[in-house]
Amino acid sequence: MILDQFKLDGKVAIVTGCSTGLGQGICLALAEAGATVVGVDYVAAPETQKRLEELGGKCLMLVANLLTLEPLEGILRQTLEAFGRLDILVNNAGIIRRNDALEFSEKDWDDVLNINLKTVFFFSQLAAKQFVKQGSKGKIINIASMLSYQGGIRVPSYTASKSGVMGITRAMANEWAKYHININAIAPGYMATNNTAPLRADEGRSSEILGRIPAGRWGTPDDLKGVALLLASDAGDYINGFTIAVDGGWLAR
Ligand code: NAD
Repeated sequence: MILDQFKLDGKVAIVTGCSTGLGQGICLALAEAGATVVGVDYVAAPETQKRLEELGGKCLMLVANLLTLEPLEGILRQTLEAFGRLDILVNNAGIIRRNDALEFSEKDWDDVLNINLKTVFFFSQLAAKQFVKQGSKGKIINIASMLSYQGGIRVPSYTASKSGVMGITRAMANEWAKYHININAIAPGYMATNNTAPLRADEGRSSEILGRIPAGRWGTPDDLKGVALLLASDAGDYINGFTIAVDGGWLAR
């Protein structure tokens, strides 16, 4: 039955950037569907842990800074030690730095590219190796952006990273679909999280953005839960290499 295909009972998922915002929402979506969740963040995530525990499933919260590749093998090792397998990786942790392109610094370029793109590729590679070793299906979900499609203003390294995320999502799907691994991305529109707090605080930019969203509101972490579950579950087995916008119609304008 179709609803059974959305169930994640017995599956183990790693979600990066789990402490707040979209990552927290995705942790809850996967856990509500039955998955065991390993949340990773560079700060502690007590609220996510509490909400996961309230759902009654197992979870593990790990603190790791994903600006470098150094913690990745340890995160996988601890996941396998605790739960014995890995089925789903959600590369959600990401940062944004804002400055005029004329003034943009090398550090703001490198930091954003490192976490938003380099870590995403190498964590996906590590997960894919594990899926192949297990001889099981695997699901990788990357978080892209409207700036995978558009240029944006004052965020050139973010645009480069998120355009890259859409590209490597396709590239990885081309090579790994034959192992029954699905690699897709979600491109959220303008969502009310810490990431967009400065935009929402700027009255001019805020009303400009809101006026362009056909849905007439900013998105919320709950708005991503359905697509995240589709891409994490058997229901999405034939979706591969694609970036799905969840944007209240923004790209349709
Ligand atoms: P957020 O800033 O609230 O969340 C980012 C998460 O990543 C936080 O939990 C943060 O602690 C974690 N993180 C940051 N640096 C880290 C590091 N060095 N190591 C480990 N974890 C780190 O913002 P959000 O909107 O929830 O962002 C989640 C993802 O969605 C990001 O990839 C972001 O680029 C993307 N996104 C957000 C929007 C939006 O409108 N909010 C739109 C498109 C894409």
